[in-house]
Amino acid sequence: MYRQGLESLPTYDVSEKDWKIKLNANESNLNLPPLVEERVIARLGRVAFNRYPDTEMDDLKDLIARNFRLNEENVLVANGSSEILEKLFFAFGGPKRSIVFPMPSFSMYNIYAKLSESEAKVVPLEADYTLDVKKFIQAVQECDAKLAVVCTPNNPTGTIIPLADIEYIAKNIDCPLAVDEAYVEFYGISAASLIEKYPNLIVARTFSKAYGMAAARVGYMLAGKDIIHMIGKACMPYHVNVLSLAAAAIVYQMRDEFVPRIQMYVAERKRMFEALEKIKGITVYPSETNFILIRYENAVALNEYLESLKIGVRSFGNAPGLENCLRITIGTREENDQWLSAVKAFVERS
Ligand SMILES: *Cc1c(COP(=O)(O)O)cnc(C)c1O
Repeated sequence: MYRQGLESLPTYDVSEKDWKIKLNANESNLNLPPLVEERVIARLGRVAFNRYPDTEMDDLKDLIARNFRLNEENVLVANGSSEILEKLFFAFGGPKRSIVFPMPSFSMYNIYAKLSESEAKVVPLEADYTLDVKKFIQAVQECDAKLAVVCTPNNPTGTIIPLADIEYIAKNIDCPLAVDEAYVEFYGISAASLIEKYPNLIVARTFSKAYGMAAARVGYMLAGKDIIHMIGKACMPYHVNVLSLAAAAIVYQMRDEFVPRIQMYVAERKRMFEALEKIKGITVYPSETNFILIRYENAVALNEYLESLKIGVRSFGNAPGLENCLRITIGTREENDQWLSAVKAFVERS
């Protein structure tokens, strides 16, 4: 009844329990800063509901372009970076066309590959979750890939690919390289500065993580104007709604208001990393994001224990390279104290 492959496609599970502390989706556990929220609400009160959102789209693109010293033609705004990624897989993939990405990485890459009927070619990360750039380039060349995707800082490992390596990959492959920078605000080093130099480079960004706008579903892509033009063809007319566009423009203009909380998340991540390192039996991976990945031999039981306390973290079951791993989003200081003492208590009495 359905198109081939749809029934066997895994479902991206978004059902939620009644969490007391929600640390499973890398959201910001703080809503918009009060001053920003006030301006957003005032702005939404002036929306022309009867018009298609073309001026709002242009305004947001203009703001983003100016920040990166690019032109509006180098920016595509979409419904989260999810839509960007899905369109990239659609536009560059297809039957008998390979798309290369590392593993473990963002689980949706596999789903977009299947949806677009592309051949997914995964390059396993090393044991410490770093990417061997030579292996990656070789994989791209061997399958004559039509698109390469990397995520840095990487979800769910938290590790980065140095900018010099991104540049090296872009220089040495013949296909587009998409860099998923969903967590870049927690790291600070972006590949956006290389867009003008490498016409095959694409940067995907989102308002969902550092800017606490997951509800609005806004993301954008930076690339050369030809790529932006072609990917734009794959989008529906007026695909992003005016409420999200208007809210995102205010948030973007006021992004300095987010600096203190980004610094707080980074400091908390460091504090949690150091505390976790001291717990015997737990391996903790260095992270440049707003989450931390840990490995523990009885991760299943630890996860169940946290669940019983209504603390929601992300477990990966038997996903290759993520056996016995849990990914914990960094919350507020109080939330972090709570989950950390729960983890400690469980491990120490096991
Ligand atoms: C969260 C996330 C996204 C998607 O975010 P949107 O909410 O769709 O903008 C994309 N890539 C990675 C790696 C993510 O973690």
